[in-house]
Amino acid sequence: MTSTTEFATGSFAETPEFGKNLDRLAEVAVHAGLGLAPGQQLVMTATLDALPLARRITEHAYKAGASLVTTLFTDEQSALLRYRYAPNASFDAAPSWLYDGLAEAFRSGAARLAIAGNDPSLLSKEDPEKVSRANRAISKAYRPAMELITRHAINWTIVACATPAWAKAMFPDLPQDEAQARLWKAIFAASRADQTDPVAAWKQHDANLHARASRLNEKRYAALHFRGPGTDLRVGLADDHLWLGGGTTAGNGRYCIPNMPTEEVFTTPHKDRVEGRVTSTKPLSHQGTMIEEISVRFHDGRIVEAQAARGNEVLQRMIETDEGARRLGEVALVPHSSPIASSGLLFLNTLFDENAASHIALGQAYSTCVKDGDHLTPEQLAARGANDSLIHVDWMIGSNRIDVDGVSATGNLEPLMRAGEWV
Ligand code: ZN
Ligand code: ZN
Repeated sequence: MTSTTEFATGSFAETPEFGKNLDRLAEVAVHAGLGLAPGQQLVMTATLDALPLARRITEHAYKAGASLVTTLFTDEQSALLRYRYAPNASFDAAPSWLYDGLAEAFRSGAARLAIAGNDPSLLSKEDPEKVSRANRAISKAYRPAMELITRHAINWTIVACATPAWAKAMFPDLPQDEAQARLWKAIFAASRADQTDPVAAWKQHDANLHARASRLNEKRYAALHFRGPGTDLRVGLADDHLWLGGGTTAGNGRYCIPNMPTEEVFTTPHKDRVEGRVTSTKPLSHQGTMIEEISVRFHDGRIVEAQAARGNEVLQRMIETDEGARRLGEVALVPHSSPIASSGLLFLNTLFDENAASHIALGQAYSTCVKDGDHLTPEQLAARGANDSLIHVDWMIGSNRIDVDGVSATGNLEPLMRAGEWV
């Protein structure tokens, strides 16, 4: 396919340069992100607004030998209609048959690709109680499929598409066309799709992230200490924790880079050893609602105080999802000079914003971030400090005003980051 006129709006989409970048984004998604195997099936999820990118990815997947590409399209406006007209009692339901089907596809060897690019505040005006019940039902129904993803049993990746609603949310003062063009430019840059050989550029970047993770693994820190405005937080690390960054070999033997972009190195905190106060440094768009200026206090690993200047009700409901929703499942370090941070843009999308700043996640831990984690029972993982929850919500706590120290087993402090940069 060469035509780019599928984008109804946008003269930018007519340029050959745009077509080339879009094609290279699809190419890196399949070859560097997914590591699709010849003969493998692919299950893709996308909103209708991402159709042109979904088609390009489908083309590259078949050219790479995919045996079958199945795309599940969703429509955000239809999702809104549920909140307007569906009976109140129905919000605890999710299409479990669909999520069971996804899990079945993954167990039978399919790879998974998600195209991100939702309207960051689609559900902001809806009843937070309905939103949280619907999210909970989805998390429960999705869990078996999600587990195969978080355990990296299969190869998977997420890439982004500059949808009209997302672009408008980021650049409310620009004409729609310009807003989308700006967002596409940022996506192409962060995903390295604007480089001549994006697959080679990703290989290099991936090697750098692995080297950073290895250096941290050699240190065997017992904890990290974050200090800055509104933040004095000690994050104990899980016993046998492993730092990861960049790509990983999935259980099915395929090498994949799960997030495009990715700039983070991350590991599993100890669910009972987090102490102190932390304040968010960027707004969080959480499943269609905005949560801003989050401030929480941890004691013995558990959130004992939490508030947000905006979206407080959603935050409160989120941490009440289950016992693990009040504890940490991830801590990640990202330098302030990461290409996404230096763009100066606030993306209102976790895939981007979490790669612009150090962050923590409430909820489920990645078992791959514990030594031999994939072979441990849930009880063994818990004994090492890995958290368990229906949710996994990342939020940003890093900035150019944050210092981070590594704390050794004997309590010695070693400077890791100063003013947001690696020491
Ligand atoms: Zn992360
Ligand atoms: Zn995360």
